[in-house]
Amino acid sequence: MQQIANIAELRERLGKAASVAFVPTMGNLHEGHLDLVRQARAHGECVVVSIFVNPLQFGPQEDLDRYPRTIDGDLAMRADEGVALAFAPSLDQMYPVDPVVTVSGGALASRFEGAHRPGHFDGVLTVVAKLFGLLRPDVAVFGRKDAQQLALVRRMVTDLDLGVAIVGAPTVREPDGLALSSRNRNLSPSERESALSLSRGLSAGVSLAAAGAGSREVVGAVRTALDHAGGVRTDYVALVNPDDFTDIDLAAGRPGRGQQALLVVAARVGRTRLIDNMLVQGET
Ligand code: AMP
Repeated sequence: MQQIANIAELRERLGKAASVAFVPTMGNLHEGHLDLVRQARAHGECVVVSIFVNPLQFGPQEDLDRYPRTIDGDLAMRADEGVALAFAPSLDQMYPVDPVVTVSGGALASRFEGAHRPGHFDGVLTVVAKLFGLLRPDVAVFGRKDAQQLALVRRMVTDLDLGVAIVGAPTVREPDGLALSSRNRNLSPSERESALSLSRGLSAGVSLAAAGAGSREVVGAVRTALDHAGGVRTDYVALVNPDDFTDIDLAAGRPGRGQQALLVVAARVGRTRLIDNMLVQGET
């Protein structure tokens, strides 16, 4: 395990590797990130984890300043996982000048998370494209917890022929169901209890869908769970196609054979904004 901040040195090291598997992160690593690292190890000889809090993807009113930065702890965790290289560039290294040309995710980037966080996904796609350009990975691993981000990265790779295989890793949860997130550390004990309404609401919705309920009932169950938890303000609850985030209507029954619908939620618990999702399986 070696930390490399110098881009020239990094490229020299990666040039010698037979294959490179990449895990982009913003640091404050938790078990969810480590699971991505394990997946990456199965896909490439040299695993690189990047740690960079990307200002381009934060809106002016968002938590860029509050975002937890824990580089020393992150490095210790990565050592345990046997990560080959840790890339933690400075702001100046990533953006020596403000970018003029950026990546736009179009309509897919303006729905759901994009509607609530204007410019967020364009910032994400731009930094991911830059990191792909710097590292030239064969494989990159992203969490399905950020499902719209994963869909957009897949489309970027397809539409721009970037030649990187994208792996989507399952969401890692606490034993009580709360999806791991760097932002969970901002929750007070009572807010954490309220935050459980996201995963519990989703589970209830998935069970209802499996029993044949329509979209309205499924979405309603999630909203009810959120409404009954104290101090939770719902941003959205929806059933969507996981590839393009267009709405899916379950009124005509469950998704068809081989199809999937994604039940997505975003809510604010106190000052902390959380997202989560679960798959509603079609017939097999
Ligand atoms: P972040 O550092 O929050 O930008 O996340 C870096 C990567 O870790 C993204 O691909 C996320 O989707 C993924 N990730 C974050 N939380 C989880 C989780 N609980 N389970 C699986 N992957 C996650």
